[in-house]
Amino acid sequence: MKILIADDDQISRMITKAAVEQSGHECIVAVDGDSAWQLYKEHSPEAVVTDLMMPGLNGLDLCRAIRAAEEDRYTYVILVTSHGSRKDVLAGMEAGADDYVTKPLDPFSLHIRLLAAQRITSLHADLARYRSALTEQARTDPLTKLHNRLKLAEDLGTLHGGGTPDLDYCLAMVDVDNFKSYNDIYGHQAGDAALISIASTLAGEVRKSDGVYRFGGEEFLLLLRDQRAADARTVMERVRTAVQELRIEHSGDPDGVLTISAGISAFTDGHRAGTEQLLREADLALYAAKASGRNRVSLAKS
Ligand code: GH3
Ligand code: MG
Ligand code: MG
Repeated sequence: MKILIADDDQISRMITKAAVEQSGHECIVAVDGDSAWQLYKEHSPEAVVTDLMMPGLNGLDLCRAIRAAEEDRYTYVILVTSHGSRKDVLAGMEAGADDYVTKPLDPFSLHIRLLAAQRITSLHADLARYRSALTEQARTDPLTKLHNRLKLAEDLGTLHGGGTPDLDYCLAMVDVDNFKSYNDIYGHQAGDAALISIASTLAGEVRKSDGVYRFGGEEFLLLLRDQRAADARTVMERVRTAVQELRIEHSGDPDGVLTISAGISAFTDGHRAGTEQLLREADLALYAAKASGRNRVSLAKS
């Protein structure tokens, strides 16, 4: 483990450092509470062994600062108290310390506490990894691996979170043409494979900063950031052509291959609509694209 030691007394510092190193850990040493806090932020140690009484930030302040700063990690904090008074120990534990040792420091006492520290911090690291994997999984469509509607809602929320977005952006609602008959002719498995190919084509044709989401069964939503309607139309024409160029045979479609239709709505200075309205407008534009023959891109009237 990487362990931060904070003590204003040089001798105590050396004794603690020797004990920590003897236990096989890497040491970072701070000469007072303030520099301990700086080093903590710089190095993110797994454990902190801190003196209680220090000038500036004392051991209790340091504990509280660490607990307040932690988000998806856990730092095991061991207090070193001069006389192990119950009052000091209680205050330390209430401030967020996990354990304490008394001065003069017994290396064995510290060693066994660091074993517990290792176990607890590695458990927390596992939990953080699981949490982050689950967060991602909950926002990912299992078939296409695109983001799903939950992530779309969050991204749109972020875009409008600070009030009105600064930049124009567009939404493009995409729907696969005559897909029901594709399933009927080629089977559901082939339908799934086609959706995967189309999804990866959509993602490949837009910028990294754009969002591509599976909106529903064979519907996708593209969030084209910092983009005006005219440019979005150009992008979507390119996307539409790329899907057609996949040349996924579809005998039930007039083009003989799978195609998509798309409807675009735009958030602009002159049209500061909310996300629900923009989604509705994109959907209406998609409907117009379908009505006028499919395999085409249509722009919402706003
Ligand atoms: P349109 O051109 O008007 O969009 O016609 P369509 O046949 O595509 O429209 P419709 O909404 O009637 O059919 C959509 C089909 O998409 C029906 C459904 O079985 C299929 N579908 C939806 N989700 C999936 C999926 O995950 N896998 C497969 N294979 N098919 C799906
Ligand atoms: Mg549909
Ligand atoms: Mg369809």
